[in-house]
Amino acid sequence: QLDADPDRSVAFYSQDMNQGMQDRMRIESGLRQALGNGELILYYQPKFEIGTDRLVGAEALVRWLDPARGIVPPGEFIPLAESTGLIVQVGEWVLEQACAQAALWQRAGLPPFRLAVNVSAREFTASLPARVAATLARYRLDASWLELEITESTLMHDFGRVTAIMDDIHRLGVALSLDDFGTGYSSLSYLKRFPIDTLKIDRSFTTGIPGDPSDCAIAGTIVSMAQQLGLRVIAEGVETVEQLSFLRESGCDEVQGYLYSKPLPADDFERSLRENWLLVA
Ligand code: C2E
Ligand code: MG
Ligand code: MG
Ligand code: MG
Repeated sequence: QLDADPDRSVAFYSQDMNQGMQDRMRIESGLRQALGNGELILYYQPKFEIGTDRLVGAEALVRWLDPARGIVPPGEFIPLAESTGLIVQVGEWVLEQACAQAALWQRAGLPPFRLAVNVSAREFTASLPARVAATLARYRLDASWLELEITESTLMHDFGRVTAIMDDIHRLGVALSLDDFGTGYSSLSYLKRFPIDTLKIDRSFTTGIPGDPSDCAIAGTIVSMAQQLGLRVIAEGVETVEQLSFLRESGCDEVQGYLYSKPLPADDFERSLRENWLLVA
């Protein structure tokens, strides 16, 4: 129903705008403070190899522990941080914290696994490889412990520039995976041009397995394409044994999802790791 009075609808519209802008500004200044106050925290979700059930990696996922609101999921502040540029500081903190944690695990003598950090397009700049190298060196963390997850939106920027950054990261021995694969808009030709190690099938496709024929077809196609390109492939958001069997049949290498574990705080993750996940033959 359209409002017949143009003045009134304009008034309503700008009121909404103000509300939206106020919300954004409140969250932004809150997030800025959260960074300074140590209110950000990383959770860790394990990744398993399908054939062996071996733990092969983990993903670091940020949360905001707001004293007033409790645990705020990244979906409620990462998009805003991306649009304001604050994601750069958030990302610096995440990389630092993830490497510090991985170094503790490395020194505790745990068998090595890759800890993946999500990197937004705005963080993927020419200074990133040097910062990654410096952080690894500072914590004396072996590069084989680290992986960066990027999305297709990162690849859509200047090709030469992005390739150079990826090559530099690869030369350090840090792995690269393509997150939320299949949801972006870029062409598939980049898959043969960029040094990518792993494709991550987006949760939106995993969810439809095995009931939705389209999701099954898409997931199956991503797996076989990855195989033919010599890439590893992981499905995110695996919640049921039916999804797991379908992915196993398809030849998918790895899985991540609530079927195995939700993202956990570091100490819970380490406890499960020692008590359950390291015992698998
Ligand atoms: P993502 O990188 O695709 O991470 C996977 C998301 O799926 C996580 O949500 C994870 O908790 C969730 N998930 C995993 N398995 C399951 C499952 O079986 N069922 C369901 N329902 N969900 C599952 P989360 O932690 O809320 O993170 C959401 C997104 O926020 C991430 O998606 C990523 O894009 C972004 N994000 C999180 N941490 C960071 C960060 O440190 N930096 C940046 N730039 N982005 C981050
Ligand atoms: Mg991710
Ligand atoms: Mg993902
Ligand atoms: Mg996703």
